Amino acid sequence: MARDIAIIGAGPAGLIAAERLAEAGYAVTLYDRMPSPARKFLLAGRGGLNLTHSEPFETFLTRYREAAPWLEPALRAFPPQALRDWADGLGQETFIGSSGRVFPKAMKASPLLRAWLRRLEGLGVAFAPRHDWRGWGENGALLFEHDGATVEAHPAATLLALGGASWPRLGSDGGWTPLLAERGIALLPLRPANGGFAVAWSQIFRERFAGAPLKRIAICFAGGEARGEAMIDADGLEGGAVYALSAPLREAIQRDGKVAIRLDLRPDLDEAHLAERLAARRKGETLSNHLRKAAGLAPVSVALLREPGRLPEEPAALAALIKALPLMLTGLRPIERAISTAGGIATSELDENLMLKRLAGTFAAGEMLDWEGPTGGYLLQACFATGVAAALGIESWLRS
Ligand SMILES: Cc1cc2nc3c(=O)[nH]c(=O)nc-3n(C[C@H](O)[C@H](O)[C@H](O)COP(=O)(O)OP(=O)(O)OC[C@H]3O[C@@H](n4cnc5c(N)ncnc54)[C@H](O)[C@@H]3O)c2cc1C
Repeated sequence: MARDIAIIGAGPAGLIAAERLAEAGYAVTLYDRMPSPARKFLLAGRGGLNLTHSEPFETFLTRYREAAPWLEPALRAFPPQALRDWADGLGQETFIGSSGRVFPKAMKASPLLRAWLRRLEGLGVAFAPRHDWRGWGENGALLFEHDGATVEAHPAATLLALGGASWPRLGSDGGWTPLLAERGIALLPLRPANGGFAVAWSQIFRERFAGAPLKRIAICFAGGEARGEAMIDADGLEGGAVYALSAPLREAIQRDGKVAIRLDLRPDLDEAHLAERLAARRKGETLSNHLRKAAGLAPVSVALLREPGRLPEEPAALAALIKALPLMLTGLRPIERAISTAGGIATSELDENLMLKRLAGTFAAGEMLDWEGPTGGYLLQACFATGVAAALGIESWLRS
């Protein structure tokens, strides 16, 4: 039985599939266009590698919205605890942070990746760097551009794990879309997920506050609320609380061109209590100082309150504004700067083994599939789970 397997894309989805298949005795070659593997995974570790989330599985699943039913079998077969055990097995114990997010104790991705690559080497996985996949030849061979020459491969099965299109300088640029479209495979357009939104700040606000965090706020939109931190940048707003609502906000902007949200700058205080605190203003105190002291607002929040126009002086009106400050998002930030990608291979194109129905023997996993999730560990968890599922799918297909 032919046992050669090509995995194209050495991100987390491709690497975990390589591990599973090599453990099962297959001869695996991992191809990547970059000189070294898992560059986005390493970047993900820079701000603290959020591997997965500890919330109950049923809640966890809802984070994938419409893709939840489709992803469920893979996530049940390789759930968050399995990912934590796997990291533990590589000497990288995990812990649950205060928000329920799961991180390796080392916080970074590099020690985990080093141990992982050592394990893969021990299992005999061959790594072929600087191999840029260019599609298929007329004889069905995989074609790679390598050092100015075309290299062919004829594996028994292929796994595509080419990632999305965010942060293209790390290797994943969505350049695979025309290659699959040519084969008649239905693709959903690649769109930014967990990215920022454009806001037309006033010149003075932009100059003073670009780079300032808005801590412990809530963003309210269409009955949904996301609490956390947001970050002001020169042309807009980004950060965890924004990302949590990024899918519905993106859809509204794509439909209507802009979207109105409300910021609650003191979500921990109710409006009546806030108005009471604001009623006690000392004589001669400036409104800005009063807002800072009585409402506990940082200078950036006070300036933000002034963005729509003149501030009301009356405590009840001020409290109402602090609890529901209107803000217009006028566009999406480019996909290049997003954390992840929505869209990709339509799930209807895949069978239960994650094999492309139109291309027998070719499987797909990770972010190139049409699902999206918020930040919080959901992205890596789904990449790992679909990587494991595709490895099992390849084994099952080769056996049959
Ligand atoms: C700044 C940042 C922080 C993040 N933090 C987190 C986090 O804390 N938690 C979390 O869950 N997720 C996080 N993510 C998202 C997470 O890193 C990705 O979802 C994940 O890496 C996707 O894995 P993947 O294996 O599908 O694809 P990728 O990791 O993108 O890997 C795909 C690989 O395919 C290769 N490739 C692409 N095209 C070709 C080609 N034509 N030929 C050969 N090789 C090719 C690329 O070089 C790349 O190595 C973060 C992302 C970013 C950008």
